[in-house]
Amino acid sequence: MPDNDPAVANDLVVGIDYTLRLEDGQVIDSSEERDPLEFLQGHGQIVPGLEQAIYGMAIGDKKEVVVEPEAGYGEVDPDAYQRFPREAFPSEMELEPGMGLELVDGSGQPFLAVVAEVGPENVLLDFNHPLAGETLHFDVQVVSLRAANSEELAHGHAH
Ligand code: ZN
Repeated sequence: MPDNDPAVANDLVVGIDYTLRLEDGQVIDSSEERDPLEFLQGHGQIVPGLEQAIYGMAIGDKKEVVVEPEAGYGEVDPDAYQRFPREAFPSEMELEPGMGLELVDGSGQPFLAVVAEVGPENVLLDFNHPLAGETLHFDVQVVSLRAANSEELAHGHAH
């Protein structure tokens, strides 16, 4: 039987419903309460391990995908920690280990860091992605597929 169902391929806009769990079963993210996630396949919009795993899936297909850190958010980089003087932070700010901070880089782009240690003089910040070093477990279902328009292809993302 010839199979003419459209399937996930490069340059298609793919819609997925997904749940992301860590190794210990903790749910980190899910599209369940939201609209499906839409992205342009083959353009690195989602983690590489998930993007690789969904090629060829048709609308309605479901899959469990396990993504190792190197195909996910990377291993924890020991060099991605940096120490700052306590005075670099507003004095009224209560800094505690595990706390996430939204910072702004030199070009005005926001990025996240996590407080790793708080000392009397210094604060150690962790600039690793919060999911670095984690094995990711995705339950994914393809819910839509469509051709990308020329603007989406030029931008490299779905609109
Ligand atoms: Zn765009």
